[in-house]
Amino acid sequence: MTVRVAAATWVLSGPDAPPVRDGAVALDGDVVVEVGPRAEVEARHGPAGVRQAVILPALVNAHLHLELSHLAGEVPGGRGLVPWIETLVARRALGGSVEEGMARGAAALREAGVAAVGEVTNGLGSAPHLAREGIAGTLFHEIYGFTERRAAEAMRAAAGVRDRAGDSGPGLRVAPCPHAVYSTFLGAAAELLGAGPSSIHLAEVPEERSFVAGATGPFADLVLRLGLEPGALRPFARSAVDAVAPWLGPETLVIHAVDLDALDVAALRRSGATVVLCPRSNRHVSGLLPDLPRLLEAGIPLAVGTDSLASSPSLSPLEELAVLRRAFPAVAPSRLLALAWNGAAVGAPSVGRLAPGSAPGVLSCPLGSVIPEDPFAWLLEEGLARPLEWLARHRPEVGA
Ligand SMILES: [Zn+2]
Repeated sequence: MTVRVAAATWVLSGPDAPPVRDGAVALDGDVVVEVGPRAEVEARHGPAGVRQAVILPALVNAHLHLELSHLAGEVPGGRGLVPWIETLVARRALGGSVEEGMARGAAALREAGVAAVGEVTNGLGSAPHLAREGIAGTLFHEIYGFTERRAAEAMRAAAGVRDRAGDSGPGLRVAPCPHAVYSTFLGAAAELLGAGPSSIHLAEVPEERSFVAGATGPFADLVLRLGLEPGALRPFARSAVDAVAPWLGPETLVIHAVDLDALDVAALRRSGATVVLCPRSNRHVSGLLPDLPRLLEAGIPLAVGTDSLASSPSLSPLEELAVLRRAFPAVAPSRLLALAWNGAAVGAPSVGRLAPGSAPGVLSCPLGSVIPEDPFAWLLEEGLARPLEWLARHRPEVGA
């Protein structure tokens, strides 16, 4: 085998690993052979090319909707979630350059250092774009329909789409999922969540709680406008989290989790589900942010996502984390970076850590003349303005 060695000012190996000053990584093609102090790696694998940089594992964007990329900047926020959704649906119905948007979005993911995604799709159309960029992860095939009949029809139609689509591409698995408690009939949501890996938008805004617990508020008006019989509108749980808690498990991604009370936090914690934070989308739509310190304190598994370009300015996990860094300066930057290295949450467990024998994707971010004391903090501050370079990029289709 031909092993090359890349050394850098700082080498980060992933969550739970201390940063290595004057570190190195030995690579055989895309596969990590060894990572550690430069002197040790060079002793075994020969001299390294040394760069003034931070080397780090490729990143995970655990929640996005690539097929909304053509709506970048087209859906104004600040008026709450229901007006945002209605504007999105109306804009989406007008069509547009959907394929070009997805191609641009997938390229932007590569530039942002992303090797794995939790992609939510209504038609599986984003699969070839992700596969072309060598991005692994899960395609969450999203189903909605608030009445029992509409949800059942949507589930049948979606199963047909999956059968016709065939293989989604190397490294990409497909998992059906509900959209949210206000848009997917509860019985259907339960079935989808209980069937294996899945995802649900949950507790994004307080109006979900009023809808679930009191059958009031903007979501009640929305489902009535969408044709629900007024007699069928009634409270069905204590909170949005409670409505689906029995079916959440370690393979579930809970997206947003902004409006939580103590019982909701306890229920999420018991479920083992991973909460995916999308703070820039929350800020755009409702102005609220998730309570990161509380989620960390509860020991809830976390990941980060950007949501779509219809509610977020970019698909970059680091730019997403930079917002949390500014909002919660007491949280250690190394704990923030761990949110962008949770490959296991999207079915790509090798992504997010430099471990011998795996091909996670390896990035380098060039430093200026100043050597930062905390490379994690630097990445979320000065590092944001620097281009990420791929030292090794796993392309599943090559050799597959
Ligand atoms: Zn979303």
